Amino acid sequence: MTQTPRVLVTGGAGFIGSHLVDRLVADGHEVVVIDSLAVGREKNLTQSLRTGKCSFHRADIRDREAIASLFEGVHTVYHLAALADIVPSIEKPEEYFTSNVDGTFNVVEAARASRVKRLVYAASSSCYGIPEKYPTPEDAPIRPQYPYALTKYLGERIALHWGSVYAISTVSLRFFNVYGPRARTSGTYGAVFGVFLAQKLAGKNFTVVGDGNQTRDFTFVTDIVEGILSAAKSDVRDEILNLGSGGTYSINELCQLLGGTIEHIPKRPGEPDCTFADTTKAQRLIGWKPQTSFQRGVQIMLEHIEDWRDAPLWDAQTIASATKSWFDRLGESATV
Ligand code: UDP
Repeated sequence: MTQTPRVLVTGGAGFIGSHLVDRLVADGHEVVVIDSLAVGREKNLTQSLRTGKCSFHRADIRDREAIASLFEGVHTVYHLAALADIVPSIEKPEEYFTSNVDGTFNVVEAARASRVKRLVYAASSSCYGIPEKYPTPEDAPIRPQYPYALTKYLGERIALHWGSVYAISTVSLRFFNVYGPRARTSGTYGAVFGVFLAQKLAGKNFTVVGDGNQTRDFTFVTDIVEGILSAAKSDVRDEILNLGSGGTYSINELCQLLGGTIEHIPKRPGEPDCTFADTTKAQRLIGWKPQTSFQRGVQIMLEHIEDWRDAPLWDAQTIASATKSWFDRLGESATV
């Protein structure tokens, strides 16, 4: 093994993936990126592609033939490619299943065929659903509330199973509410930062869900990247680790830091009042500790606010129609 072996990042043109690629390139790796551009954007890779150390391959992980040969000579696979967002996962569960479950199967099979040594799976804290315990440890009950959460969890099971059966040293990292520059600004109604930053740019109200006292473990993207790299470098295998910020922050607090006026919209079914990772396992096993305070992270977002100039602008009405299927399908079964 050379000191900086060839690595592969699925979803490398996406939000978290592209930050990871930038860092891997800076560390001297040759980086193979696979991305279908369903969610990612080639623009996110501008910096890395310029170095000549990064190759971009537009391919869908659902198509094993298209991706298999790219795994040759790869030491470590970072599997971040997935469809995200709740509402489309409720409306198009098959797409989520084929991308996040079958796609993961294709990735681990390609890794196995090419004798990849190390695999890091990007998992989601959404598998905990509405947890009973805060901070939430990795052995908390699994309660996916919608297809996105279930498919990411099934992908995790596949990755860990392949890891143990086929001797691919595998670790799964459950990310909590990741935010940072390049957070997606796609057409779908999604992560709160993109919604609020576009609203701030337009001088509109922040659409606060419920009373805004719900809290999220907002984790800054560079801390997540550091966690991914620490995990990959460690000899930890067959393990699941939470990656969170070490705190939990209310939506009202976020609005205060961003500065602006608010209006309230209805609480969403199946949504936890709090997400808060117990990160003691990550600290113990890979020596990782997040470094970016929430205040600092929000400040960085404000410094990059122009990036959201083209982002869709949501208001109470358009959110109500965009989330109708969420309320219709989950309203009765999941509201607590
Ligand atoms: N949120 C909000 N207004 C919005 C979108 C989200 O107040 O227009 C809140 C939401 O209630 C949640 C937090 O922001 O508490 C994070 O929401 P997001 O959809 O980003 O992540 P998730 O709910 O999946 O953790």
